[in-house]
Amino acid sequence: MSRVVTTRRAQPPSTPQPVTEYLLLIGTFLSVAAGFADLDRADLGALRAGALCVVPAALAVRSWRNPSLDARRGKRAPLWVPGLLALSVVGVQALGGIAGPVAALALAAAGAASLGAGGRRALPWTLIALTAVLFPGWLGLAAGASALSQLSFAGAFIAAALVPGRALTGERVAHERTRKRLRALEDESGALRQESGSAGTNRRGDVYGAQDRDRDLRTIARELQHDMDRACQVLVSATGARAAAVYRPDGEEDWNRLVVVAKAGDTGDLVDDVGARDGIFGAAFKAGAPVCLSSIRPEDPRVVHRNDTRALGSVLALPLVDGDRRWGVVLLDADQPDRFDGPHRALAGHVADFVARLITRAVDLSAVREDMRENHAFYEACREVSRHVRIDEIARAVVTSVGEFVHIDAAAFALCDASGETLRVIDAVGFDRPPPREPFFVTATEGLLAQSVRHRTVIERSDLQDCSRLPVLFGRDAGPETGFHSLLVLPLVPPGSEGEPIGSVVVARRTWPDFEPADTERLQVLLHQVGAAVSNGRLFTEHETRGVTDGMTGLPNHRRFQEVLGQKIAASERTGMKMSLLLMDIDRFKSVNDTYGHPMGDEVIRRLAKLLGGTARDGTDLAARYGGEEFCLLLEGTDAQGALVLADRIRESFKQEVFVMNEGGRPVSFRCTVSIGVANWPADTRDQATLIELADQALYVSKEGGRDKATCYSRQASTRGSEPGRAPVTGPGRPRPW
Ligand code: GH3
Ligand code: MG
Ligand code: MG
Repeated sequence: MSRVVTTRRAQPPSTPQPVTEYLLLIGTFLSVAAGFADLDRADLGALRAGALCVVPAALAVRSWRNPSLDARRGKRAPLWVPGLLALSVVGVQALGGIAGPVAALALAAAGAASLGAGGRRALPWTLIALTAVLFPGWLGLAAGASALSQLSFAGAFIAAALVPGRALTGERVAHERTRKRLRALEDESGALRQESGSAGTNRRGDVYGAQDRDRDLRTIARELQHDMDRACQVLVSATGARAAAVYRPDGEEDWNRLVVVAKAGDTGDLVDDVGARDGIFGAAFKAGAPVCLSSIRPEDPRVVHRNDTRALGSVLALPLVDGDRRWGVVLLDADQPDRFDGPHRALAGHVADFVARLITRAVDLSAVREDMRENHAFYEACREVSRHVRIDEIARAVVTSVGEFVHIDAAAFALCDASGETLRVIDAVGFDRPPPREPFFVTATEGLLAQSVRHRTVIERSDLQDCSRLPVLFGRDAGPETGFHSLLVLPLVPPGSEGEPIGSVVVARRTWPDFEPADTERLQVLLHQVGAAVSNGRLFTEHETRGVTDGMTGLPNHRRFQEVLGQKIAASERTGMKMSLLLMDIDRFKSVNDTYGHPMGDEVIRRLAKLLGGTARDGTDLAARYGGEEFCLLLEGTDAQGALVLADRIRESFKQEVFVMNEGGRPVSFRCTVSIGVANWPADTRDQATLIELADQALYVSKEGGRDKATCYSRQASTRGSEPGRAPVTGPGRPRPW
């Protein structure tokens, strides 16, 4: 069962606070206020020196709070910058305050330090600051002597504040922008999920079927793709990377290759398919942490994601990890060296975490959807099984529906006979060789199906390919089964049978994985239902057979005959096939009953039934007891000529039957004859009732002709029998047949 992880909201990097600016503004205010307050020179110098100390203090605070912001070339915060500034201020104070070229030089050093802290972007501001500081100094204006001097100092302070502050503000704006983008990305992906409804149950609110599952899986995949694409775009625009790409394993289990699943930026020569152990990918996997190449040599073997590595400056690979689950790698590259040090790396790390959680969520959600579909398929299979009453339909439902909720490649369903001595495969799917049709003995067979019935137990076999002894499933003659990885054989035990199996079911897989206990459990529940369905089905079949079978002879009864005749006529209407109907009546049967008794009469009836049953061809002809001592035989694809030949043969055969009975200790034997009438479809009629009527008329002709005869209904009657050529006589109440 899959684990469901609630996705946390991605936390973007914290935005640096403008502490430096605040402190510097306070320092400026104090300095200017002191100048205008007309304090004496010494006090003013001390105050200014103190105010100036605010600058290194502010920079130190900023370095401490946001180490990543000041990190350059992989080092920690450059505390030497505020240190140098502090030294400058102390030097200025030692020289007697802000005056003279030495003080100006000290301030120039402070400006240079600011430049170091602010980076290249701070250059113009640093120059302004230095000019503001140096200009009044060289003019020989004493600090605090004039408003111009005060203003120049104010300008110097403001500029000094702006130098690092400006850089800081730039970072803050960039961070704020990234934070907004990440939020937008999350909101967008959340809105998409809500819109598609994939986070909830299916929209119909009823059972969850394969269609629902497929639609949801497609939606989940689409959302994930969208989110990963957007994450790559955010990475490119927020870090200034040349390209960003998400690499994932090629196939669920294959961690040897990684393929690009999402990308943004300049991806023209990006390699779509890399080895998971190659270069920076392998290093990131091994480290389980981001790996950064800050400077890249020509033909650097660690760079495997681009065909042309010449213009590349830096590469960052971040493993996609969520808890103990690994999903792939996020890769960024840039033209400049050192691009992914400091804040960009932190940002990329956050985005990688975000993507990893998205994948976890998508995978878990897909697993939940699959579970739901399997559950639905399981209930559907149970329903499908209990919908049928005929054994062959139940067997079909089992072997075809099991695969919907358990992965299988083959299945077979076998039932015991009434005595429980033999098993017979009713239906099977997926076997290379079809299972035997003949029943095989439960006790004398080493097959796994027989064993599961005999021992009333579930049998599981796995790793069959590596096993020296291949499993025999069916009868001994069927031989061992090849090509399977694992098998599960379950006895079929209906409720109320006190554990006595009535059959067995086998399911098989050709490949890994093995069957799980959950699979066995579900199959057992299904087979419980199947057992009940088979019991019901057997009762139904028995009842149904009884309703259409004549109890004395075992032949279909009059009702069944009429049913089948109707079906065959309907089929013949379409195919145009000929049919003949033989209607026969035992001659002078009343006298048999009177002379030899009814039990003997019954025996005569049974003997004729047996003869007819043996004559009818399986599947095409139908022999039935029409009523009393009258029988009928429906011959498919037989014309009048053929039917008359067969009728004659039946008549002759029956005449040969000798009936013997014991009469007062003395054996008495006798024979009987039968008269037959034949009518043809469609030659004589296309109507069911008329066909029987015409056969009856022909039978009447046979009777009237002296009995022991077969007559074919015809406009020129053709009668064969012991007295051939004798003219038929039309009796009272019977219409003339021609
Ligand atoms: P025919 O040659 O004209 O047919 O003379 P028949 O005596 O055979 O006359 P009919 O066919 O009318 O006789 C039917 C008799 O068959 C009447 C009935 O007592 C007897 N019969 C009907 N069903 C059974 C049965 O199941 N067992 C026995 N023993 N007799 C039956
Ligand atoms: Mg009769
Ligand atoms: Mg009769």
